Amino acid sequence: MSDSTADSGPAGDVDPSELTDEEWRERLSEEEYRILREAGTEARFSGEYVDHDADGVYRCGACGTVLFDADTKYDSGCGWPAFYAAEDDAVTTQPDTSHGMRRTEVRCANCDSHLGHVFDDGPEPTGKRFCINSVAMEFDDG
Ligand SMILES: [Zn+2]
Repeated sequence: MSDSTADSGPAGDVDPSELTDEEWRERLSEEEYRILREAGTEARFSGEYVDHDADGVYRCGACGTVLFDADTKYDSGCGWPAFYAAEDDAVTTQPDTSHGMRRTEVRCANCDSHLGHVFDDGPEPTGKRFCINSVAMEFDDG
C-alpha cells in the first residue's frame, strides 16, 4: 500500500496539471517536449528501452508516476517498447484519428502527457499491445 510513487518524478511536488506550456518546456528536453506534450513519436528502434529487459518499473517521463511493470514488457518487434498491461489507473486512452489512422492514444492519467498508442494485437492475458515511446518514460530498477 504505497502511494508515494506519484510524487517523486521530475515535476516534484508540483501538480502537473497546473503547469503552463512554458513551464513544461523548461522541465523537459526538446525531444521529451515534442513527444510528451505535442504527441510526437520517436523513430522506430531509436528508443533506449526498445530492447531493454531489466526488472523494474517504467515511470512517466514528465511526472514520475509508475506506468508499466517490466514484467509486462515483451518483444513485439514493432520498434518501440511494448507492454501487454499498464498499471491500474495509471493511463487513460482516447480515440486518435490523426495521420489518417484510427488509433487509440495512451496518456498518463496523472499529468495527461502523451505516451504512445494501444493496439488489440497483444499477447495473453490481455490481448493488448501498449506501444510506448522510450522518450516518454524513465526506467526505475527500484
Ligand atoms: Zn505523467
